[in-house]
Amino acid sequence: MKIKVQLSMVLNLDKCIGCHTCSIPCKNVWTNRQGAEYMWFNNVETKPGIGYPKEWENQAIHKGGWTRDKGELRLKAGGRIHKASRIFHNPDLPIIDDYYEPWDYDYESLISAPGKKHQPAIHPRSQLTGEPMDITWGPNWEDDLAGVCETGVRDSNFSGLDHAIYLSFKQVFMFYLPRLCEHCLNPACVASCPSGAMYKRDEDGIVLVDQERCRGWRYCVSGCPYKKVYFNWKTGRSEKCIFCYPRLEAGLTTLCAHSCVGRIRYVGVVLYDADRIQEAAGATTDREIYPSHLDLLCDPSDPETIAAARSQGIPEQVLAAARRSPVYLLAKTWRLALPLHPEFRTLPMVWYIPPLSPMEALAENQDIMAAVDNLRIPVRYLANLLTAGDEAPVRLALRRLAAVRAYMRSVRVENKAGEAIAASVGLDSASILKMYDLLAIARLEDRFVLPTASHPDKSPLHGIQGCGGFPERR
Ligand code: SF4
Ligand code: SF4
Repeated sequence: MKIKVQLSMVLNLDKCIGCHTCSIPCKNVWTNRQGAEYMWFNNVETKPGIGYPKEWENQAIHKGGWTRDKGELRLKAGGRIHKASRIFHNPDLPIIDDYYEPWDYDYESLISAPGKKHQPAIHPRSQLTGEPMDITWGPNWEDDLAGVCETGVRDSNFSGLDHAIYLSFKQVFMFYLPRLCEHCLNPACVASCPSGAMYKRDEDGIVLVDQERCRGWRYCVSGCPYKKVYFNWKTGRSEKCIFCYPRLEAGLTTLCAHSCVGRIRYVGVVLYDADRIQEAAGATTDREIYPSHLDLLCDPSDPETIAAARSQGIPEQVLAAARRSPVYLLAKTWRLALPLHPEFRTLPMVWYIPPLSPMEALAENQDIMAAVDNLRIPVRYLANLLTAGDEAPVRLALRRLAAVRAYMRSVRVENKAGEAIAASVGLDSASILKMYDLLAIARLEDRFVLPTASHPDKSPLHGIQGCGGFPERR
């Protein structure tokens, strides 16, 4: 058993309000400069929709991630020889129009315009060429389903569903999907890089690009199935989400998580068995990947895991943070948080709690099992997004979320016992109350549980308190 540490995030889609607040501090701090105008390390998409860049989920087009071929795990885009033959033209790369052509406005002429009868107007101009342009697409063009009657048919999560029904006015559904780099355990971007510039940090699993070594081949861009590596046209190098590691090293959480208005984000440490990554990523069928992925995550309170971690030099403060990890609780213990498109076989480490949608049945106090089947968002759609089409884990997560509401209403409003509700979803009252605490009212120090410094002996930050010790918003 080779225990490794991974910093990980859970996003509760049930609470995301699509405000984009998370994207703004990320943009302002990390990609607010020339060459990075079109980059959004964190973006928020509306589902259904084809997202940013267009149709990023459709690997028949983009050929990102891994595939299982003759029992072997292989990059979907082909091996080194295949890549070398196309090194000066990679047809799998998205073009700028798939993201969007970034633009701004000539504010100066607006401010300095002389007094006239009519208000002055300014037109968009390209940030790439400086020329006037027509805006035809943007990083969230489909916000709140805008235009989805046209683009929605290309959303690959409708597989097995009649999209025409779900995109009609009466049946339509929507939810928000905030996205960042998944800091995968089996990152296709790292495996695709011919220069060895992409790497996974040993101490916490954050995936980074070494700017000195990057030669701008861009195979990481096409190799990432989530399209979360971007090419900077000014520097000629690739860039990506760095999970705000300078903040994490100081005991602060990521900017997207800290700024989240809906308080939907949880950040914590998980321990995993690195010896079994290939086995998990190479599971025989797509639906077997999620359970094998979960199996990789080790119980941080298990004496055998702790002994193995100590023998490999994992610091005590990291083990302590792993034992309090909200990510482990939500993903492994309660099975509420699920991976995004596990069928890409990169073993993503940003997890999503699926959204409940308006459920009249639950409000009318019908049984939870039936209520989940009457959701406005089809379970099949969520399963295509989160569990390679397997509906059972999605149903379990939704039933448990619904059970928390039913339990609290039963106890607090109707003054009745809630044990039967908890038992119906395989839990007890203590677990339901703990779940309610974490999902509904958790304070900052429960949502973000970070070790103080990964290498206290090497870091000048040693001794700084965790984020709970800072005067942050609660
Ligand atoms: S999501 Fe991040 S870690 Fe995973 S393949 Fe893409 S860039 Fe690499
Ligand atoms: S800030 Fe939070 S609630 Fe708002 S869009 Fe981002 S993830 Fe959703």
